[in-house]
Amino acid sequence: MEQVRAKKSLGQHFLTDESIAERIARSLTGRTQCLLEIGPGMGVLTKYLVGDPRYDFKAIELDRESVDYLHCNYPSLNVIEGDFLRLDLEGIFGDRPFAIIGNFPYNISSQILFRVFEQRNRVPEVVGMFQKEVAERVAAGPGSKTYGILSVLLTAFYDIEYLFTVHEHVFNPPPKVKSAVIRLTRNGTQQLGCDERLFVQVVKTGFNQRRKTLRNALKPLNAALDAIPEEMLAKRAEQLSVQDFIFITNNIKPEKCQ
Ligand code: SAH
Repeated sequence: MEQVRAKKSLGQHFLTDESIAERIARSLTGRTQCLLEIGPGMGVLTKYLVGDPRYDFKAIELDRESVDYLHCNYPSLNVIEGDFLRLDLEGIFGDRPFAIIGNFPYNISSQILFRVFEQRNRVPEVVGMFQKEVAERVAAGPGSKTYGILSVLLTAFYDIEYLFTVHEHVFNPPPKVKSAVIRLTRNGTQQLGCDERLFVQVVKTGFNQRRKTLRNALKPLNAALDAIPEEMLAKRAEQLSVQDFIFITNNIKPEKCQ
């Protein structure tokens, strides 16, 4: 790979170990034909995807220099120059569902995952590398300290697998933290059986003050909690499953919500 000066503001940490790039590419289930790579950079992962006949493949990259490099080195690649967070995901593959892959820009990890949550009916699969801490947070279950908003929202609609850990020395420049690859596969849930907007609000509010019991943490919702059993209100958000949050959403009195 050509030596390039990575731009810190774009979260650029280029993978230098091709075997890891190949392993990430192989972690796709291959069930989804349309595939979008976020942040291909110098194309180390792209290389294992662009020629694969199973995929209708596109990439989105914010950095002009990287886009120029990709155009020169992968002339058949359909690369969009732009910001994934502003990309019109409704139009990108028509109305066909698409998988997302990438060694993601770590500075926008959570925003990428919130977009996946919003677009869950369009995105059946995500395979990607995040900071290890974010990957652990997404893959965590109730009771664990890292379990949080994204774990609950994504677990509601995806099966989440922590695939493998990646050491910092395989990047140029090396990030300060370890990385990890996870896979999200859309589960069969179409609807949660509750008001989904309120569900998101309950989860976010519950974790906003995660050390408090739910009785106190949910106060900002200004909702009546009397239909929720005391033993549940005495717990903290990090102890609750998706089903518990659904139960709460269905049993608070939403008319009193802001
Ligand atoms: N996949 C490459 C590069 C990873 S670094 C590799 O593994 O080597 C992250 C990449 O995301 C960089 O190329 C950076 O320019 C790009 N990027 C940063 N913010 C972006 C955004 N909002 N939308 C699309 N690409 C972005």
